[in-house]
Amino acid sequence: MPKRLRPRDAVLRMSPYSPPQEGRGDKLRLDFNENTVGCSPRVIEFLRQRVSETRLATYPEYLQARRALAEHFRVGEDELLLTNGTDEAIQIVMNTFVDDGDDVLLLRPSYAMYKFYAEVAGANLREIPYREDLTFPLFELLDALQPSTRAIFVSNPNNPTGTAVTLESIEKILRRAPDAAVVIDEAYYEFCGITALRLLRQYPNLFVTRTFSKVYGLAGMRLGCLFSNAANLHYVHKAQSPYSVNILAALAASVAVQDADYIDRYVTEVLAARELLYVGLEKLNIPYYKSQGNFVLMRTGERAIEIRDRLREAGILVRDRSYELPGCVRVTIGTREQMRRFLAELEKIWNG
Ligand code: PMP
Repeated sequence: MPKRLRPRDAVLRMSPYSPPQEGRGDKLRLDFNENTVGCSPRVIEFLRQRVSETRLATYPEYLQARRALAEHFRVGEDELLLTNGTDEAIQIVMNTFVDDGDDVLLLRPSYAMYKFYAEVAGANLREIPYREDLTFPLFELLDALQPSTRAIFVSNPNNPTGTAVTLESIEKILRRAPDAAVVIDEAYYEFCGITALRLLRQYPNLFVTRTFSKVYGLAGMRLGCLFSNAANLHYVHKAQSPYSVNILAALAASVAVQDADYIDRYVTEVLAARELLYVGLEKLNIPYYKSQGNFVLMRTGERAIEIRDRLREAGILVRDRSYELPGCVRVTIGTREQMRRFLAELEKIWNG
């Protein structure tokens, strides 16, 4: 019997992450909070016509993209790092600041990757539950802070609850945790409008992330941005693999941020579609939580899994969250037309 290798204890303790099923492309994708119609046509045109063989044969160069993004986000060039999705931003903050056994504070439920990378790092994880009405548990979080807390991750607005936390509350956390990396994940910023970016120069422990996976419609590209002060990013950059962002992603980002109209129009459409969904759910007597993101949690009770499965049979994908929020299904908001299709199918199942 050949000897088996033993992984680190931290890895042994982890439960496996189940990625989305394959073959989602031809379905109505209301399961991963992506842009449901795709990126700006300018990005596609650029990639088709302007990417040369030399570009592809050369290791990626980031200067131009970094400049374009720094200008777009109105930060200094040394206050931003390109990352392979927000996921890599989370990973490199963890790698830079969190040692085996260090204290990390998370909220529950929230984006799964904070826990994932904290577990890989072997951190001592503490999770503060959202309140019953899914509002942000500020006082509970402040109470749980200890001098030894090394990192805190907050999704604003939060996935999957859809609820947001105010800048005043974020500032309270920043002031009370001067020795912790406080990461505000703004993946859904465009739908909500609250940003901590303008606080960067005031709080040396603040990190902000943005992604191109949501409103920009580039989830497959894997591109995110991590913001903090230059001194923090100097260390984080040391812990980052040098070519983790591919050249197509870097090129696409510089073009994507130029088409502000496309983003504005998509956000306006989603906000109208979210209202339409609320009205539809009220008509069906299905309770839901008001959301600040491009997704809504509805409470279908014991029928959550059945509803997910029957929608899938009709070509519509949604995400069951009952394992963390009993009876809840999360629905990504697309266009009004897509929401009408969703509501029509849901009605058949619900009343059927
Ligand atoms: N942060 C949050 C809160 C999310 O919900 C998601 C997508 N599910 C992401 C980040 C996505 O990260 P990435 O930029 O790696 O695609």
